[in-house]
Amino acid sequence: MARRLRIPKFGSPVEHSSLQIFAPMSIPATFDRQTARSADAADPLHRHRADFLIPQHEGEDCIYFTGNSLGLQPRAAATALQAELEDWAQHGVEGHFAARNPWVSYHERFTTGLCHLTGGLPHEVVAMNALTVNLHLLMVSFFRPQGKRRKILCEAKAFPSDQYALASQIRFHHLDPTTDLIEVAPRPGEHVLRTADILSAIEEAGDTLAMVMMGGVNYFSGARLDMPAITAAAHAVGATCGFDLAHAIGNVPLSLHDWGVDFACWCSYKYLNSGPGAVSGIFVHERHVHSPDIPRFEGWWGHDAERRFLMEETFSAMPSAEAWQMSNAPVLNMAVHKVALDQFLDAGLPQLRERGDRLTAYLEAAVLDVPGLEIITPSDPAQRGSQLSVVAHGFGRSLFDALSAAGVVADWREPNVIRMAPVPLYNSFEDIARFHAILRTAVAQHSK
Ligand SMILES: *Cc1c(COP(=O)(O)O)cnc(C)c1O
Repeated sequence: MARRLRIPKFGSPVEHSSLQIFAPMSIPATFDRQTARSADAADPLHRHRADFLIPQHEGEDCIYFTGNSLGLQPRAAATALQAELEDWAQHGVEGHFAARNPWVSYHERFTTGLCHLTGGLPHEVVAMNALTVNLHLLMVSFFRPQGKRRKILCEAKAFPSDQYALASQIRFHHLDPTTDLIEVAPRPGEHVLRTADILSAIEEAGDTLAMVMMGGVNYFSGARLDMPAITAAAHAVGATCGFDLAHAIGNVPLSLHDWGVDFACWCSYKYLNSGPGAVSGIFVHERHVHSPDIPRFEGWWGHDAERRFLMEETFSAMPSAEAWQMSNAPVLNMAVHKVALDQFLDAGLPQLRERGDRLTAYLEAAVLDVPGLEIITPSDPAQRGSQLSVVAHGFGRSLFDALSAAGVVADWREPNVIRMAPVPLYNSFEDIARFHAILRTAVAQHSK
């Protein structure tokens, strides 16, 4: 496959397509460790690395490239968790009102951070439940097949949980996933979906399409979708449009409100560093929030907060995404989420993306400096975030195992893809320079 490469020349300015407000992108001029370290020292955002606990390998920091699977632990996490345990010990049930962060309104602590990350308005976002659970709950509202308008369009080889969720929703409505689930695939020989192909598949499905639901950043290739164009195309044929943002949130800037996206959900344990299995979140566009007759599964935490404890028989919905919230907040699960979101507010997502673009370009150059490896992630920064997916042609799993043995934490996806995420909050140019040396040695030792 012919891949159009735009490899940045070392040290020279690189055109930056998504964020013109920043200075031209520059990366260290060599893979020398000391040069990389100087580049880190000159970058104000590098200070955030010290706020994380980095797993160790033979007395040195691991080269941790799996922040897209499980983000590292913020040092402040333990204190935040401990505070809730103390308040529980001290106040018992009174902690709902007397805790330092009253549990009764605990979910409201996340609004500012989630608005920053999603481009949602305060009444459009809420932290709750887990990702796949929320995807189902949102489909109760946004996948309502009627007559011939009954199909769902998604990407081929979506994340397995999403595939199961979509197919089971279709069956739940007594429809058939083999005919009612349209999966758009990359062209033969290509790894990344083309926007034009997605748009024409939507147009072709026309009035048979009930909903479009896709991963905003593809978990496998790391490719970022053109979410505004897809949303507009879905709306043009009368379908709803939602995104699973598991690999997008905290990674790439989002403007869900302005794009007119109907709904979205995400998890907080990947780029959001909130800990294993940590709370998910949802976005519901305000036009639906204010729609009086949208169907929804309801519970007491979606009821008007002013009247929640009157224990009324009739549900009176919160005038916000909170209406989709069913249960009271899992406080111990959510305590770390606040710490993690505050780090994003402190650093700023656009600034992090800019650093992420430089780290990713440096990692791209490091991988391409070693013969025999192919990157399937787009090389245009506007079409990716902080992930590179590398095809280990002919090397097989033994190359990956050699990297792991040398302290590189990456992940392996069958049949032969290594995924790596240089995360701007805690990865460094030095990580990448060290990785380059390890990769060269491993490739030399594992020649085909
Ligand atoms: C990580 C991920 C999930 C995981 O779902 P959980 O419900 O949090 O276990 C689902 N979908 C996508 C696209 C993911 O990347």
